[in-house]
Amino acid sequence: MMNDYKIWVDMDGVLTNWHKAACECFNVPYPTHSVLGRDWIVAQTGLNVSQLLSAMDAKKGFWEDMLPTPVMPRLVAYLDVNFPDWGILTSATHGSESWGGKAAWVRRYLRTTGLKRLVVCCGNKARFAARNSVLIDDTPKITDKWIENGGMAFRWVEYTSDWQEAHDEQFTELVQFLEPLKNTSK
Ligand SMILES: [Mg+2]
Repeated sequence: MMNDYKIWVDMDGVLTNWHKAACECFNVPYPTHSVLGRDWIVAQTGLNVSQLLSAMDAKKGFWEDMLPTPVMPRLVAYLDVNFPDWGILTSATHGSESWGGKAAWVRRYLRTTGLKRLVVCCGNKARFAARNSVLIDDTPKITDKWIENGGMAFRWVEYTSDWQEAHDEQFTELVQFLEPLKNTSK
């Protein structure tokens, strides 16, 4: 049975442990019990976002070799059962490296799941927003724009991977958010 609602999931920070990979890339100690965001890694490295992304592109296997977030298996299993039409919506970097790396990551970790589509876009995710589309993303600017464009969004928070209680709590909140959207088909 198809649901009316289409769920789009961000990769970096939601499915992939972007900050752990970033810390390794820039020799920054990975913190404990923390909320992570672009501002944090910018402050740690003294590099701006475009410099960060260029360095990541330059590191062989950076995009492909990221670890999944602790919540990824649970999230994917939930979506497979409850929103089987789900897809990934992720932004590529300006270099070409992330396109292939992201596709390879999806093949490695999600090949046997129900994932229906992988969309790698060049920024401006909001153009995919529609009335019955839900985006799960950790960048507030992106979720805000998605909502402005008529979609619904769940603002994900990237917690460090050690912080199990925070991940559990957020997953519960997400399920509460999505639950009313299940099985709405005619
Ligand atoms: Mg993200």
